[in-house]
Amino acid sequence: MNGRVALVTGASRGIGREIALELASSGHIVAVNYSRSADAAAAVVNEIEAAGGSALAVQADVGDAEAVDSMVSRITEELGPIAVLVNNAGITRDGLLLRMSAEDFDAVIETNLRSVFLCSKAVLRAMMRAKWGRIITIGSVSGVYGNAGQANYSAAKAGLMGFSRSLAKEIGSRGITVNVVAPGFIVSDMTAELGDDAMESVAKQISLGRLGRPEEVASAVGYLASDDAGYITGHTLVIDGGMAL
Ligand code: NAP
Repeated sequence: MNGRVALVTGASRGIGREIALELASSGHIVAVNYSRSADAAAAVVNEIEAAGGSALAVQADVGDAEAVDSMVSRITEELGPIAVLVNNAGITRDGLLLRMSAEDFDAVIETNLRSVFLCSKAVLRAMMRAKWGRIITIGSVSGVYGNAGQANYSAAKAGLMGFSRSLAKEIGSRGITVNVVAPGFIVSDMTAELGDDAMESVAKQISLGRLGRPEEVASAVGYLASDDAGYITGHTLVIDGGMAL
């Protein structure tokens, strides 16, 4: 039980929710960020508290600089300085490039990439003061290999890998590690949008023959957040059930 404060963005549902539960189970005090799902975020907080942990739900659009700064100030005042940041919030606005609007391109870059810049910058000073920190960002195999119909999403997810490697070099000497976890297809609201038929054909391309579970991503994030992972930085860990083999 470590008592470190962790901020998980987009923790009301899906992968972020499981990461919040995982970090709470290893003794972190968890700030559960959400955008619109206040009830779902409150339910995550209740689940953590019922298991004997501590958590706080915090609303903020992570693509909005002012909202991010006031969220980080509130967490610092109410829980203490943030030691672990998990940049998990993400959206898709899929479409072939010829039909993709500039609005859909910008929205995905703002929520999936700009947010990583804003949140990382907002927590960095406290981590540097503490000479300890963990910044873990949820990428995607789409950012590693590309995916037809996801030029905006793949650009954002590839961008955050370059961002993380650069930041890892900038702040490695301060005891702060910066890593990316890149899931393949994981069961969540995001993949549910694709429909059962598409998911069945995807599962056939995966060596393990099935989609991943959010908790299988969360356990890797829990490890990267721990002291045990102190010598891993600038790394992208692909969790795709052997999809790309
Ligand atoms: P999800 O079920 O759709 O949940 C998305 C979460 O992000 C929700 O908590 C949502 O909050 C939050 N969010 C969205 N926009 C936000 C904003 N502007 N500010 C703050 N929070 C915001 O998605 P998921 O499948 O768990 O995905 C989580 C992460 O994993 C994303 O970065 C995604 O790109 C990545 N990923 C997912 C898969 C997959 O197969 N599922 C694969 C690879 C990578 P509200 O509930 O309030 O809307």
